Amino acid sequence: MGEDLKKIKERLPLLDYLQQHNWTARPAAHGSEFVGLCPLHPETRPSFYVNARKNLFYCHGCGQGGDLIRFVELSQHLSFRQSLTYLEQQSTPADPATALGQAATFYQRQLDRYPEARRYLEQRGLHDPALIEELQVGYAPGGSLRRHLLAQGYSFDLLQRTGLVNPQGHDALYQRVIFPCCQDGRIVNLYGRSTGGAFAHRFLPGSKGGLFAWESVRHFPTVILVEGLFDLATLWQAGFRHATCSWGTHLTLDQFRQLCDRPRTVYLAFDVDANGSGQQAAQGLAHRLRTEGITPRRVLLPPGHDPNSFFLQGGDARQFQSLLEGAPL
Ligand SMILES: [Zn+2]
Repeated sequence: MGEDLKKIKERLPLLDYLQQHNWTARPAAHGSEFVGLCPLHPETRPSFYVNARKNLFYCHGCGQGGDLIRFVELSQHLSFRQSLTYLEQQSTPADPATALGQAATFYQRQLDRYPEARRYLEQRGLHDPALIEELQVGYAPGGSLRRHLLAQGYSFDLLQRTGLVNPQGHDALYQRVIFPCCQDGRIVNLYGRSTGGAFAHRFLPGSKGGLFAWESVRHFPTVILVEGLFDLATLWQAGFRHATCSWGTHLTLDQFRQLCDRPRTVYLAFDVDANGSGQQAAQGLAHRLRTEGITPRRVLLPPGHDPNSFFLQGGDARQFQSLLEGAPL
C-alpha cells in the first residue's frame, strides 16, 4: 500500500492533479508555492495554498490540508482506500496507441543489444542504418516488455487488451524482428517476423492500418505493391520508394480503396511461388483494379522469387527496373 501511494504521488503531482481539475492559481510569495480559490469551500478571496515542492496543500479559509490523497478524500468524499483506487485509475496511462508506441520504442532500443537481430536483418539483405531507423525496426527478445510497461504505469489489463501480453501474462512477441505499422502518424499494430523457425509472421490483434506507409506512397502516379515488409524494405533500400505492402495477397477493402483513390499504375510484385498462388492472386487483383480504372501490371520475377530474394540473390536496381518496364498489362 505504501509503495503504491508513493508511486501514484510521483506519477501525479498534486499541482498537476488540481490543474487537470481546472484549479487556477498564481505563484505565491515563496518560490514553489501557488495560491488560488479553495476547491473545497466557496470563497471569493484565494486562501488555498499548494507547495509544489513538498506536494502538499493548506487552506487558510477552512483549515484543511494534506497531500494528494487527502485532497481526493475531501473533494470526492471517498475513503482513503477508495481514493487510492480512484487515483490509480486517473494516473494510469490508458491509451492503447500510447502503449503500442512505448512498446515500439522499447523494441527499437533492443535491436543493438541482440546481435542475432542485426544478423537476421543482414541475412535478409537489410543493411542501410538510416532505413532501419526510418522504419523504426526493433527486436522483441521476449520476457522483458511486460515488466518495462508495467513500470511505466500501464495496467496489466491494458497490455492484455493491446495483445502485447498474452492471457498467460507473457510477452506475445518474442525472438522477432519488429516493424511498427502506422496509420495517420500513429502506431496501430506491430508486425513481428520470427528470427527462428515456427510461426514466421505475427501481428497483434486488431487493424493493421491499411497499406504500409501509404501517406508517403500515395503521391506517386505509379505504385509497386508487394506482399511482405522485407520485400518493401529491400525495394526502398534500392531506391524504389513508391513501394507499399499489403501483408499478403488478399487486400482488405480499405487497402483496395487506397490503391484506387486516384488513377494510377499499380505494379503487382507478388511472390512467384511453385504452386502459383501468388500469381493467381495477382491476376484476380489485376482484374478488380481494372474495373476501378487502375492500370495493373504484373511484375514477372524469376520462378521461386519475391522482391526480397531477387535482391538477395544478386539482383540490382537496374535489373528490377527492367522487370518493371517489361511487366505485362
Ligand atoms: Zn478551504
